Amino acid sequence: MLGNFSYCNPTKLYFGKKSLNYLNDELSKYGKNVVLIYGGGSIKKNGIYDAVTALLKKNNKTVAEISGVMPNPTVAKLHEGIEIARAHKADLLLAVGGGSVCDYSKAVSVSVHCEEEPWEKYFVRFEEPSCEIVPVGCVLTMVGTGSEMNAGSVITNTETHQKIAHVFADEKIMPRFTILNPEYTFTLPKYQMVSGIYDIFNHICEQYFSDEDDNTSDYISEGLMRSVIHSSRIAVQNPLDYEARSNLMWTATWALNTLIDKGKHTDWMVHMLGQAVGGYTDATHGMTLSAVSLPYYRHILPYAIPKFKRFAVNVWNINAEGKATEQVAQEGLSAMEDWMREIGVVLHLAELGVTEDMLESIADVTLILKGGYHVPNRAEIIEILKESL
Ligand code: NAP
Ligand code: FE
Repeated sequence: MLGNFSYCNPTKLYFGKKSLNYLNDELSKYGKNVVLIYGGGSIKKNGIYDAVTALLKKNNKTVAEISGVMPNPTVAKLHEGIEIARAHKADLLLAVGGGSVCDYSKAVSVSVHCEEEPWEKYFVRFEEPSCEIVPVGCVLTMVGTGSEMNAGSVITNTETHQKIAHVFADEKIMPRFTILNPEYTFTLPKYQMVSGIYDIFNHICEQYFSDEDDNTSDYISEGLMRSVIHSSRIAVQNPLDYEARSNLMWTATWALNTLIDKGKHTDWMVHMLGQAVGGYTDATHGMTLSAVSLPYYRHILPYAIPKFKRFAVNVWNINAEGKATEQVAQEGLSAMEDWMREIGVVLHLAELGVTEDMLESIADVTLILKGGYHVPNRAEIIEILKESL
């Protein structure tokens, strides 16, 4: 039975080949001081930087920049950005990049007017902001995280090897607007595209694999998963296929914009394992998830056989006739494995630089959540990590 919830998602989206034009409308709503935030330079190579800065100039904005936001942004980089945004008296933080830039901008936005140390406040104590929030706008260049329409922010502490996500409760932390132009993703290296595809798929799985009731969210999730599988096959063959890339972009946004978790408890253990691996290796997010997923799902399957059967039939078109429920459930995961091999995700942690002697430490920083079908203990976490090697 659906539980009680409230739902509000204030992010305004502009989608399509001409969507950047709407940045004009949005910029006029904010003050003069804009901080332009971006990563390691891909936007300078593909022309997005020039297009955005031309619009900032046209709108007479005074612009400061935070550049070099790395994949898996760090606490040290967060402190650097807060200083720049404070000195510039930022009215708007304009994130131009992927999930890392978007997540990072949200972390800056809740810290500019805050006296407390942000890592401790937001990522250790999981507090909500008690200060003014600087609005964030986003021009997305990499598809996967859903950060463009949610209040999540993931920051890495390189000293403690903790990579922690805080999904803020306050919807004011969601980007005020996001520009989604699928063509901006055409220059992504294939490794990043595929990593993002798996991130989308896993976001849906994390929400789908919980609860046993009849929930509309699960039907939506199955549709989104079918779309990701279909479009990913096309995009891997032809990365310039606009239809496939635009479907992936749109699906990524809906996979994690708080719609399909409504009425659900949600699992998120694959992300907890992936983030712990990320804290030790700085590996690409989606690939940390793909490397641990099959051992994790095979481990929890005995606790949720009917749901894994439903997944097999409704998502992977497995013919269940005359077969035992568990067999169908297993065949669903085999079909998922075949698809993962087909699109080329990483299936072993060793490929990401993980060695057996690191597993205990990775287990130490793995947060254990209680929403899924089975709550693993430390020994099981180590077992899953070993099987993922
Ligand atoms: P990303 O870390 O933002 O970007 C990965 C790489 O792709 C960067 O090296 C970047 O290069 C490059 N890139 C981006 N756009 C490009 C383009 N159009 N052309 C060429 N290269 C491009 O990747 P992401 O997967 O979107 O974000 C990962 C982070 O988000 C992780 O920290 C993860 O934990 C977090 N995350 C957040 C949520 C959430 O709900 N908020 C959910 C899942 C994961 P440049 O730096 O040079 O631009
Ligand atoms: Fe993710």
